[in-house]
Amino acid sequence: MANIKILKSKIPFIITLFCCVTVSALAASVRAAEDRKAAETAAKAEPKQVIVLDAGHGGLDSGCVAINGTYEKDVNLDIVKDLGALLTLNGYEVVYTRTDDVSIHDDGIEGVRNQKVSDMENRLKIVQSYPDSVFISVHQNQFTDSAYFGGQMFYTTKNSANFRLARIMQGRFAQLQPGNDREVKLIDNGLYLFKNTEQPALLIECGFLSNPEDAANLSSAEYRKKVAFTIYSGLSEFFDGEVKNKENTKIGETESLLYMQ
Ligand SMILES: [Zn+2]
Repeated sequence: MANIKILKSKIPFIITLFCCVTVSALAASVRAAEDRKAAETAAKAEPKQVIVLDAGHGGLDSGCVAINGTYEKDVNLDIVKDLGALLTLNGYEVVYTRTDDVSIHDDGIEGVRNQKVSDMENRLKIVQSYPDSVFISVHQNQFTDSAYFGGQMFYTTKNSANFRLARIMQGRFAQLQPGNDREVKLIDNGLYLFKNTEQPALLIECGFLSNPEDAANLSSAEYRKKVAFTIYSGLSEFFDGEVKNKENTKIGETESLLYMQ
């Protein structure tokens, strides 16, 4: 009897407990469904930002050759691959103009010069296929005077955000390369890939292969990773600023006004 009494007195408690468990299980499943819906909506509302990465040169075109024999085309490709991996890992969609040591000219084109023209046309087609992207072209510099060193950013005024992107990136390279006080440089009416490219675009010369220290650094896989991270962090800073800019003004408007002065 005593046991029955105890059981009876526990029944409401057990029912309450059962109800609580049922209610919280229900609530959890409703929450999970809501979370899924929110994630789906966010995914629909915000497509991934596309970054088009161009490793300069390739194949028969080696670009410049470092004083230690390293080819520019190899340095460019290595940096672009490291950068692409970082961007992909952090939720960006990456499009490459090349991922191997090749020229991307059309089949059947004869002659190095014609192949180079076709290669550049095909690169431009890729860039223009992604009008909402940011375009980054990676190169290495050279000069007759071996004292010149350090990365330098080249931009056009085709997109009003370019100047800001160039300055941010130049600042990041100054952190990587102590003593690099280079200024960003305008290349309107210049380079084929940039002349008609309207999305944000930047040509990055990471250093001088004609300078002994830059050449030694850029020949090392470890340093190339640092360069890739430098570019990645510059892009992150650029996109953070774009979000703030959108709240107040059109993208890059303030900066392009600064430039006009
Ligand atoms: Zn180059």
